[in-house]
Amino acid sequence: MSLPGTTAKSPARAGGLTCTQRDWSQALAFDETHLWHPYAPIGGAAPAWPVVAAEGVRLVLADGRRLIDGMSSWWAAIHGYNHPVLNRAVRGQLRSMAHVMFGGLTHGPAIDLGRRLVDLTPAPLEKVFLCDSGSVAVEVAIKMALQYWQGRGRPAKRRLLALRGGYHGDTLGAMSVCDPVMGMHRSFAGVVPTQVFAPRPACRFDEPWEPAAISECARLITTHQDELAAVILEPIAQGAGGMWFYHPEYLRAVRALCDAHGVLLIADEIATGFGRTGRLFACDHAGVAPDILCLGKALTGGYMTLAATLATTEIAETITRGEAGCLMHGPTFMANPLACAVAVASIDLLLSGDWQVRVRRIEEQMRRELDACRGLPAVRDVRVLGAIGVVEMRAPLDTRRLMARFVEAGVWVRPFGHLVYLMPPYVMRARDLSVLTGAIKAVLSEA
Ligand SMILES: *Cc1c(COP(=O)(O)O)cnc(C)c1O
Repeated sequence: MSLPGTTAKSPARAGGLTCTQRDWSQALAFDETHLWHPYAPIGGAAPAWPVVAAEGVRLVLADGRRLIDGMSSWWAAIHGYNHPVLNRAVRGQLRSMAHVMFGGLTHGPAIDLGRRLVDLTPAPLEKVFLCDSGSVAVEVAIKMALQYWQGRGRPAKRRLLALRGGYHGDTLGAMSVCDPVMGMHRSFAGVVPTQVFAPRPACRFDEPWEPAAISECARLITTHQDELAAVILEPIAQGAGGMWFYHPEYLRAVRALCDAHGVLLIADEIATGFGRTGRLFACDHAGVAPDILCLGKALTGGYMTLAATLATTEIAETITRGEAGCLMHGPTFMANPLACAVAVASIDLLLSGDWQVRVRRIEEQMRRELDACRGLPAVRDVRVLGAIGVVEMRAPLDTRRLMARFVEAGVWVRPFGHLVYLMPPYVMRARDLSVLTGAIKAVLSEA
């Protein structure tokens, strides 16, 4: 069917191709011409590798090559791919319903997931908002903070303080609290709200605590307290904004400053949640409870898009008593039953296994093996925390060329900017991890 005034598309362009392709060249030509990929130019400058299956810690390319996955599909696939337990959860849920609206209806998978999230997260976090992606979870967190202060009769408190080097997602509100330089705020001036930014925490995770590291942040919170609704940060490990690990004392100091000056603390654990840093949540390194917590990525073990924003009872009740009478948010696919069911299965699978041991082994092995990169002239720094390993280069990398070299070496690693990093599935065996770290050393030796 074609709309008046438009020309009908050829069957091929309208979807005649199916991607059980024997001939991938046509399909890839379509991909390059028509499909955006994340942070990538369109039109063939950055062709993508076709993947036809994923199993355990391996991605299977269309030409049959099998790559060891160092990315967990961006922090998410912590149990590896095609996991029988998670597959069973999806199939089981599919038998009763794939989706129903959450407005006026509720269902078992949402309740089961809600229970687990309330139990697992720090005590004051008791109210759960289930939404569709990490960025939306951050939008919801920001809206909660603003509506909270409206409910408290302090509507002027509507700005956020964020950290440089942070990453919180790609929607406009979430973007406003991302690092302003990395996030290209310039491109969106006047559209993205301007927030307050503290320097990247200078004191590293494993250095002796240096109290001066918090002083500028303290000054900003004090100065802006009347307009600040919340501080938002990635606790302990900053992810996509720079893969930087900072001192737990910094987080404790921010918590104390927020309490002293009447500012909420939002912890964005979308990347760090569910064990990635060696603790179930990164806040646990500091023994700190945020007022609002965002979860996503590994929440479903990488199976489906789902995120959650948790808040304290006081925040929820204040919002409910406020002028709007409710939280002003409600996505179409809120609490999607398939996603909730697989999240429940993923959490149970994680907690019933020995994830701490696995993450610690991965950490120790990456420390040992990535250390070999330190001697390379192009390398500035090597750092490891939990199942996150980072090699920072002195100069920005040619991402595309490096990815091609990694594929040749049989591994899947996607560097960005100055950084080459690994965040393998927790189930990765030592031998496979050695192939990954060896490939990094070999490829960076050529750089
Ligand atoms: C990935 C990420 C987000 C955004 O999540 P999406 O699901 O990509 O929208 C937000 N915050 C942090 C810390 C993240 O790592």
